[in-house]
Amino acid sequence: MSKSSFVDFKAIKAAVTMEQVLDHYGFADRFKKTGDSLSGPCPIHGGSNPTQFRISISKNIWNCFSECKRGGNVLDFIARMEEVSIHAAALKAIEWFHLDPEAMKASSEDGQQRQGQTARGETARAPKPDPQEPTPKESNNAPNKPLKFRLEKLERNHPYLAERGLTLETVVDFGAGYCAKGMMVGRIAIPIHNPEGNVVAYAGRWPGEPTEDTPKYKLPPGFSKSLELFNIDRAIKEPGEKPLIIVEGFFAAMTLHQHGCRKVVALMGSTMSATQEELIRKHTNGESRVIVMLDEDDAGRAGREDIAARLSRFCFVKVHQFKEPGMQPEHLSAEDVRSFLNL
Ligand SMILES: [Zn+2]
Repeated sequence: MSKSSFVDFKAIKAAVTMEQVLDHYGFADRFKKTGDSLSGPCPIHGGSNPTQFRISISKNIWNCFSECKRGGNVLDFIARMEEVSIHAAALKAIEWFHLDPEAMKASSEDGQQRQGQTARGETARAPKPDPQEPTPKESNNAPNKPLKFRLEKLERNHPYLAERGLTLETVVDFGAGYCAKGMMVGRIAIPIHNPEGNVVAYAGRWPGEPTEDTPKYKLPPGFSKSLELFNIDRAIKEPGEKPLIIVEGFFAAMTLHQHGCRKVVALMGSTMSATQEELIRKHTNGESRVIVMLDEDDAGRAGREDIAARLSRFCFVKVHQFKEPGMQPEHLSAEDVRSFLNL
């Protein structure tokens, strides 16, 4: 989209939530949700009071009651954060949240008026909402949309992947690789598929121990990992009588897969969201067996108890405990996995 193109601000405001924007900036953790509102320190003026900045989730607007003494919509927020015009903020939103540029394009006359804000008096008036029209879905409940692009030329034989014990065959099989350019530049990009097999995101693992200010994993803005299970698209194609193994991370899943345990999914964390639980419920029955194999650390131990309790309501659950603290599924040898699963 060229810089001068007309953008439908309204469509962008409907497509992007303040929560996604906070998430993009990495501020989501600092905010507390109470009912319909989120409050936290103001990201714009960089305050510290946890109630000075408030977001109405349903209205998708924000307000800083402290220094800024102002509020607005998502685009106003991005514009203030980036110190750019609303138009530039809109273009950023399209890029960050992978919005379809065509769908966000205003028809030329329409756009011209919006560009000029109030070319004629009546254009500033908001159209009456159509009661038949469904209200825009809250994005954090909306499914992750399939990506319209693929990261190209990923380096499959990057040394980090071998260091993690993955063979080239596994790396290719999972479509992972080092990304030299694009959104996951400098990271190992790992595609995440939905149950239908569409890529909904790439996760980016820093190849090695990152410095303090670099996160180990990067996920695209607007992507909710709690709505997906890594490798579910392939795990559900495996025979029903095989147990489904649930692990925390991408590398644990890829390692187990490499060792012949192909019916494996990763939570991408040590907790199971309601949506993930529902996904598992949908693809199991009262006869199904599930093995919960989280890392042998505090988070893993806490997570697995909760997960086992919830899953045992609809299938047979076994919790795998490692002998040594700190152990992870990745540490299992092919032999261990074989004997463990009686393959
Ligand atoms: Zn402020």
